[in-house]
Amino acid sequence: MIPPIDPAQLDRLAEVAVRVGLNLQPGQDLLLTAPSTALPLVRAIAVQAYRAGAGLVTPLISDEAVTLARFRNAPDASFDRAANWLFDGMAAAFDANTARMGIVGDNPMMLSAEDPAKVARANKANSLAYRPAMQKITTFQINWNLTAYPTPAWARLVFPDLPEDEATRRLAEAIFAVSRIGGDDPVGAWAAHNAALHARCAWLNGQRFAALHFTGPGTDLTVGLADGHAWLGGATTAKNGITCNPNIPTEEVFTTPHARRVEGYVRATKPLSHQGTLIEGIEVRFEGGRIVEARASKGEAVLQKVLDSDEGARRLGEVALVPHSSPISQSGLLFYNTLFDENAACHIALGQCYSTCFVDGGTLNPEQVAAQGGNSSVIHIDWMIGSGQIDIDGIGADGSRTPVFRKGEWA
Ligand code: ZN
Ligand code: ZN
Repeated sequence: MIPPIDPAQLDRLAEVAVRVGLNLQPGQDLLLTAPSTALPLVRAIAVQAYRAGAGLVTPLISDEAVTLARFRNAPDASFDRAANWLFDGMAAAFDANTARMGIVGDNPMMLSAEDPAKVARANKANSLAYRPAMQKITTFQINWNLTAYPTPAWARLVFPDLPEDEATRRLAEAIFAVSRIGGDDPVGAWAAHNAALHARCAWLNGQRFAALHFTGPGTDLTVGLADGHAWLGGATTAKNGITCNPNIPTEEVFTTPHARRVEGYVRATKPLSHQGTLIEGIEVRFEGGRIVEARASKGEAVLQKVLDSDEGARRLGEVALVPHSSPISQSGLLFYNTLFDENAACHIALGQCYSTCFVDGGTLNPEQVAAQGGNSSVIHIDWMIGSGQIDIDGIGADGSRTPVFRKGEWA
């Protein structure tokens, strides 16, 4: 019997994740988080990491049944708790130059039947405890990477009409294809892809747009860009000097919007899978950078809870451009996973900004980031607003307009 996930391809994915994604250095330690269903990739990554000279590989494994045991049995007070000691340890590990890899592949609907109030409280407690360590990741204190493993529960959701083995095979093939590991020279393919993304960033950085104007069905949105913003995409050099590819796959170029200069209305073009709930048909209106009206045809209660997470949750922290012709978009699949779905379409993110998306971003303190328009929040949630029908103009400081996208493609 042919296994649904080709072990040779999985080894290649692990090698690309370690050598291109992390660019793990000899002697560097690695902290790895993964669901228990992704253990075959955890093991393959451990092999590749030690071959690359890793000092110590430490996996932290989560498990769906253990998570559900909490939601169904724990006392009420549990949902305001988080394992602070663990997150403090992660922050200490990053201070000691430990690289970070996250393997995604959890069942996206894991918490869909649980009490949304408990889910929101648990997420908030976790986000607060994780924040110091998370900031070291988002500010690229260390090299980090997210890579995906085709778990059966995820595959069943993406291919609901197929038997589990066939669904897993199809999801594995899709992940391998968009992760660019198929050719003779995946490392070279990634170098070419990074060069193309960097050329887009150089053009946008040269334009110094004050705002982007998105128009399309249900959308007329002006997204002001932060003062001194910088576009990033593809490989990024972390503050420890190591150039990594934080996301595999990646198709986006992105920057920081101005948290107080977003006006108009926008309609999501894909459902948003948020920690176990599918939020569909999102429509919001911004005034002065803040969401003042929000609707969803499905999952609206969860959306409203997300928006009430904190003051920054109603403002934007990211705007990203992805052509409709990207391989992930062309796969036609809804992955129910941000790492994939955000690379299928132009998107915006509610919440925390990336302070690296500024000119000399590494030198700015949080007050300077805020003064230049960078948003701050415990959440960062991407949702898709791009399609083959979206036009985008860049608006200069003098009000001049430059076509950036036409019908979903670079103009
Ligand atoms: Zn993004
Ligand atoms: Zn994002």
